Amino acid sequence: MSKRDYYEILGVTREATDADLKKAYRELARKYHPDRNPDDAEAEDRFKEASEAFRVLSDAEQRKRYDRFGHQAFGGPGGGGGGFDPSDFTGGIGDVLEGILGDVLRRGRKRPGRDLEVELRVSFEEAALGAEKALAVTRPQTCDRCSGTTGEPGTTVRACTACEGRGEVRFQRGFFAASRTCATCGGTGKRPEVPCTKCQGTGVCEGTTEVQVRVPPGVEDGATRTLRGGGELGPGGPGDLHVRIRVDEHPLFERRGADVLCTVPVTFPQAVLGTTLDIPTLEGKVQMKLPPGTQSGKVFRLRGKGISAYGGVGKGDQLVTVMIEVPEKITREQRRLIEALAAEMGTDTLPQRASFLDKLKGLFD
Ligand SMILES: [Zn+2]
Ligand SMILES: [Zn+2]
Repeated sequence: MSKRDYYEILGVTREATDADLKKAYRELARKYHPDRNPDDAEAEDRFKEASEAFRVLSDAEQRKRYDRFGHQAFGGPGGGGGGFDPSDFTGGIGDVLEGILGDVLRRGRKRPGRDLEVELRVSFEEAALGAEKALAVTRPQTCDRCSGTTGEPGTTVRACTACEGRGEVRFQRGFFAASRTCATCGGTGKRPEVPCTKCQGTGVCEGTTEVQVRVPPGVEDGATRTLRGGGELGPGGPGDLHVRIRVDEHPLFERRGADVLCTVPVTFPQAVLGTTLDIPTLEGKVQMKLPPGTQSGKVFRLRGKGISAYGGVGKGDQLVTVMIEVPEKITREQRRLIEALAAEMGTDTLPQRASFLDKLKGLFD
């Protein structure tokens, strides 16, 4: 049987730092830990394989030898000498695991409930300015009839004798002391005289709870907030709740980083003569001066009227693009006035148009 390359097992490059190794190993160990995958031989093999790879590569001396000699470096044919057998997990690996995997081992004794993922829709303004939102989550949670005792209210509940109330049975599994959920009590550790009629003695039933989610100012569409312990309730406690934030579109505003973009239509007379405009911003209307002779497409910057930089200091700006709107329908009188204006103006007072016509001429001459 050919052994897989240690770097390949961990999914890292040969230049991986200690931190990279740790991160890669932690992810694999979480996924394949025997406590999380009872009776899954393949997961156990993957876990052992990853542990071995990590153990060798996280030791500078052994990594150097492995880089030079490959698997031959450790007791393979022609190897020898080193006296290290990486498949020997009895020494030291426990420390490694305790150090890196403490949480998995602690939680792994009794499996926590599953993580939940839900979506939270927020308005453009809420995402920009931040908000506190209530979110109704339906999930397996502590039974409200028996308060998790598993027994009908007023009846006696004793500890499960099969697991002595621990809810789990420990056993030796290869190199590891592993544990599995007690089959007699289903992991509750309790034996009710009269099982609760609502949760059938499990102490857990589906229920809806309102949770508060803090939407940080400047949050972007698709960002996830994790509420520890907000997931499904299991024998080892609740899983986590992952809230994916979805930002609604705004009828007027668009976002570019921390800046807010909007387009404001003005009439031709307003652009020519200048005026003061009411501009909507995230925090209400502000007045903006439109100077005489403003061109269509000109962008004005309203400083500090944008979005708080996410997780940082400072605020973006609001960028206002002015667009000259041409009326689609005009009255007879308006037509007369515009025709008179056109005759009066000619092209002389329109520098852009005049230069455009000049260029056009040059192109075909
Ligand atoms: Zn109950
Ligand atoms: Zn039990």
